[in-house]
Amino acid sequence: LDKVSEPFVSITAIISSLQRVSAGAENLLTVMEMEPEAKDQGKALPAKPCSIRFDNVSFAYEPDRPVLHNVSFEIPAGKSVALVGPSGSGKSTLIKLLYRFYEPISGSIRLDERPMESYSIASLRGQLAAVTQDVYLFDGTIRDNIAIGFADATEDDIARAAELSQSAFIRELPEGLDTRVGERGIKLSHGQKQRVGIARAVLRRASVTILDEPTSALDVETEAMFQSDLPKWAGASTKIIIAHRLSTIRDVDYVIFLENGRVQEMGSPKELLQSKGRFSDFWRNQHIHEFVS
Ligand code: ATP
Repeated sequence: LDKVSEPFVSITAIISSLQRVSAGAENLLTVMEMEPEAKDQGKALPAKPCSIRFDNVSFAYEPDRPVLHNVSFEIPAGKSVALVGPSGSGKSTLIKLLYRFYEPISGSIRLDERPMESYSIASLRGQLAAVTQDVYLFDGTIRDNIAIGFADATEDDIARAAELSQSAFIRELPEGLDTRVGERGIKLSHGQKQRVGIARAVLRRASVTILDEPTSALDVETEAMFQSDLPKWAGASTKIIIAHRLSTIRDVDYVIFLENGRVQEMGSPKELLQSKGRFSDFWRNQHIHEFVS
């Protein structure tokens, strides 16, 4: 893991990778995939919410096995979009392309109307904040875990991040933010870890916030944090959610429905649910319980 010595801007990517390895989960960002092929050059991606545009993007991990076919969509700066689709439809792959872990075979990805290759990889990754399904906590205090990669974060910044992530539980711990967590510290619940992950993302004030919504059942409060509270903690950033719950999808500006690496439908959640097309079929077949409740 000598990558940790790379510029700290890619630390979120490293954390995400560790999370995935530690969880053995097959959904986002692996350590092996971290090495970008392209050289790091270009201007800095401005630290403000940016628009994201995919133009006819195709991609294959292995020759002759394309996993994305002519994917096109646009997310205006500051809007929220849910990526929805069956397992293997290409949701995580879209995110990996956004991190430039891989390059498209054809087509282009534009951020703020400029090709993403015109930005340095370090600045690009520095402007992406991801909250993955299983948040990895290293040995250290909660404060260290929130502020990883931000040596100059002020007390106020950290307190604000903890507040916005609704980490009230921190105040109830005897040592508050100085409480040790990780292998040698206290064990936090899944929901509490997730809040620390969100606090990390908040602190970054990134251009784009990426949320891999947990597939597992969550308590009501944690669920609310991922849904209605998202605009609060993700602020003005452009928001991409790999969504598994209808309640999450209802709250976003746009839904992109992927199947077999193709964008099948795209529109506001209301439009897609009313149009009785493939997206609404998908929900009826896969998630019928969500309609019942
Ligand atoms: P899930 O909801 O299960 O996480 P997904 O929609 O995120 O699925 P991807 O992980 O993007 O789907 O996978 C899209 C396709 O690419 C799948 O067929 C998958 O098997 C394949 N794939 C993913 N990662 C790799 C890899 N590193 N090497 C080869 N093929 C891969």
